[in-house]
Amino acid sequence: MRYLLFALALWLPLSLHAADKLNVVTSFSILADLTREVGGDRIELTNLVGADADAHLYEPSPDDAKALLRADLIIANGLGFEPWLERVLASSEPKGKRINASAGVVPLMLDEDGERVPDPHAWQSLTNAEIYVRNIAKALSELDPANVDAYNQRRDAYLTRLHALLKKADAQIAGLPASQRKVVTSHDAFGYLGQAWQLSFIAPQGLSTHDEPSAAEVAALIRQIRSEGVRAVFVENIRDPRLIQQIADEAGAKVGGTLYSDALASEGPASTYLGMFEHNLETLMAALKP
Ligand SMILES: [Zn+2]
Repeated sequence: MRYLLFALALWLPLSLHAADKLNVVTSFSILADLTREVGGDRIELTNLVGADADAHLYEPSPDDAKALLRADLIIANGLGFEPWLERVLASSEPKGKRINASAGVVPLMLDEDGERVPDPHAWQSLTNAEIYVRNIAKALSELDPANVDAYNQRRDAYLTRLHALLKKADAQIAGLPASQRKVVTSHDAFGYLGQAWQLSFIAPQGLSTHDEPSAAEVAALIRQIRSEGVRAVFVENIRDPRLIQQIADEAGAKVGGTLYSDALASEGPASTYLGMFEHNLETLMAALKP
């Protein structure tokens, strides 16, 4: 009996606390990881587009719509990355607060089908990821002021790790000669990484993965790889590797491995944002180093 009362006393405050947790929905795996790092066990997190999945082509489910209606906070990337989310939000009008984690990032503007559009893949720069983390911490703190200290502490601990990785990336990439900074990937997902470290990324597909490249575009890319001496082409975790393999074979280049572009891995080192970034850095360096 005494044991039962003791167990009940432990259980009661815990269950009350669980009901008080903020319900947070993130649009894709990278935001889910950053939000978990800041929110810890003080939030209840639902993520929509999972690991290794392509957020450009996502079709939201009825369960996703229900999760959005329950949410206290909805965190999207923004910059046009999730048109499907904007459509669901416009039709269901959930009451929760909405933020774009990329708010405050200086967008890279590109020509896409004759239009100037922002490149949505801002998370591929660690400096931008710091902006994401600060935005997420600020939104959690505003909705849950009782836990501000905890959110700030977790934010700062995470940013310390992020800054250490930034230093490592700077040091490694600085050693690459200018002639070895050209990289081919499946779609234009690494513009911000290229901008931060003077790497030039070329892709047969544009900012989104909607349109398959034409035979003429693929042929032009193969000629470019040959004439510019591109050392390595990379497959992406969210894309079918066959086109890239074919391009590499025809251009006489090697496939340098898998880069994580728009989603984390479901397991292993690339299943967190910092792990993903480090994996990409090491994969790029292994292929590009003289
Ligand atoms: Zn993408």
